[in-house]
Amino acid sequence: MDISEIQDLNNSDPLQDKAREFHLPGDKIYLDGNFLGAMPKAVLERVQDVLKREWAEELIHSWNDNDWFVLPGKIGDKIARLIGADKGEVIVSDCVSANIFKAVMAALRLQKGRTKIVTELGNFPTNLYVLQGIEKMLDGKVELIAVERNEVLKSINDETAIVVLTHVHYKSSEVFDMAHYTEVAHSKGALILWDLCHSAGVMPMDIARLDVDMVVGCGYKYLNGGPGAPAFVSVAKRLQSKMEQPISGWWSHATPFLFDDNYNPAGDIRQMQSGTQSVLALSALEVGIDLALSADMNEVRKKSSQLGQVFINLLQENCPALEIASPANDEKRGSHVSIRHEHGYAITQALKARGIVVDFRAPDIIRFGFAPLYNSYQDIWNTVQALKHILDSGEWDRDEFKLQATVT
Ligand SMILES: *Cc1c(COP(=O)(O)O)cnc(C)c1O
Repeated sequence: MDISEIQDLNNSDPLQDKAREFHLPGDKIYLDGNFLGAMPKAVLERVQDVLKREWAEELIHSWNDNDWFVLPGKIGDKIARLIGADKGEVIVSDCVSANIFKAVMAALRLQKGRTKIVTELGNFPTNLYVLQGIEKMLDGKVELIAVERNEVLKSINDETAIVVLTHVHYKSSEVFDMAHYTEVAHSKGALILWDLCHSAGVMPMDIARLDVDMVVGCGYKYLNGGPGAPAFVSVAKRLQSKMEQPISGWWSHATPFLFDDNYNPAGDIRQMQSGTQSVLALSALEVGIDLALSADMNEVRKKSSQLGQVFINLLQENCPALEIASPANDEKRGSHVSIRHEHGYAITQALKARGIVVDFRAPDIIRFGFAPLYNSYQDIWNTVQALKHILDSGEWDRDEFKLQATVT
């Protein structure tokens, strides 16, 4: 590939104007939208309005007058459109870890008599940790079956209460076939929960049509909701009236403002909430969601795949010795491409010194995340040129690049 092909791709990119909606530091190429999405410019105005008018001037009236109380469901309905869920099936609440806990506990209650939770070894650690915590808390009544990817389907049987999988793997970027795995889980009478952290906002999805039982996902990656943005959780309508989740706080009550001593579950998606949410964080998140909704998700996926393909092609031409740790097949790859290198951390720091922001996942993975709404083909070209230089010259081999920071 040469630079003129890159320019052609840039010029014919139907999403090229979207980058203007984001604040992107001029001295950086940002390839870490899979860890923290860039800031939409409109967030500044929106959050200022929430601060100066809704909070400072209108105070508690904002809970009603500015929709603060219903914001989690209102934003949830917008996320539903992004992931193909029905209205009333998604709510924004808490963090992904808490939502996994609530959803899996609810699933276990729905599946009385079934005692196994199936997941993938090497799944994102918080998913494994929360499931291990549930196993410990339930003291032998439930067993966690964590197996290699190719063993997952075989491990689902008539003892399985729920299967917990992550749609796009955080390291390898491998995509699970959501339709097939959901079908197999259902054929054995198991429920399935999909974690959409690395796919929401970069892939079209149709979770209602696939009859998926539950999903969780985060707001701060490709949805550009800001650091610590609240997460979302979805439960299929057919399960909502029967489900019970253990953090049965007042926001999950049918009538929280009657202040009844007794718990009476909401009986709809509000039941997956627990308590008061951060309105500032919700407001910022809504701006990111609106931006995602302004793009055609099929175009987004097409560009995401093509950015990855161009990156892989350029790596093969320019850095042939590098080990690519993600699928070459576009359909099997999410929106990031990983490479494996024993000096991976030092290489990420050498890239950082050249203004290229990527991240490192121990022990040896460097992730290059492609956010179709603001990354360009030129970004990919410049990154591979820099990487080639860093590798060929040994520029990464400096003491200051090897001092590992807390967050990588
Ligand atoms: C980022 C991520 C999370 C984040 O969980 P939080 O509890 O919101 O911090 C969970 N699962 C996966 C797969 C992730 O990539």
